[in-house]
Amino acid sequence: MNNIFKKIKSFFLYEIFIGLFLTLKYIFKEKVTINYPYEKGPLSPRFRGEHALRRYPNGEERCIACKLCESICPAQAITIEAEARDDGSRRTTRYDIDMTKCIYCGLCEESCPVDAIVEGPNFEFATQTREELIYNKEKLLSNGDRWEQEIALNLKANAKYR
Ligand code: SF4
Ligand code: SF4
Repeated sequence: MNNIFKKIKSFFLYEIFIGLFLTLKYIFKEKVTINYPYEKGPLSPRFRGEHALRRYPNGEERCIACKLCESICPAQAITIEAEARDDGSRRTTRYDIDMTKCIYCGLCEESCPVDAIVEGPNFEFATQTREELIYNKEKLLSNGDRWEQEIALNLKANAKYR
C-alpha cells in the first residue's frame, strides 16, 4: 500500500510541486540576504574593528605616550617609543601595532585615558601579505583621520556605559 502511494506521489510530481510552492511562498517575503559589498549590515557602536589613533579637532595627536595600552595588551602587539618635545609635552616617536598578533580584545581602547587609540568600525582591511598588517603611527593616524566621524559617534553612543 505504501509503495503504491509513493508511486502515485512520484507520478504526479508531488515533491516538485511542494518545492515550487515553498519557493513561491518565500519569493515575496523580505530578503534576509544583502548584496555585500554594495550593501552592509548594521554594526554595533561597540564593534571592535581596525585600530586608529585619533587627533583633537585642532589636529594635535591625542596620544600622550603614557604606554598604558602597550602594557595592558595581552598579545603584546603594541610597541611604543616616546620622547619629550621642545614644548615639554610627551609624544610617541613610534607607535606600532602588529595586527597579526592582535586578538581585538579592546583593552587598549579601554585603558587609554584620552581616547586616542580606538578600534574603529572598519572591518575591511584584509591584505595580501603579513607585512601590510604591521601598522605604524602614520597608518594609525591616517585611519583616525579617515574614520573620526564614525568613531566619535560610536564613542558618544557608548559613553553612558563606560
Ligand atoms: S585590541 Fe587587545 S590585543 Fe589588540 S592591540 Fe588592543 S589590547 Fe592588544
Ligand atoms: S594611545 Fe592612549 S593609552 Fe596608549 S600611549 Fe597613547 S595615551 Fe597612552
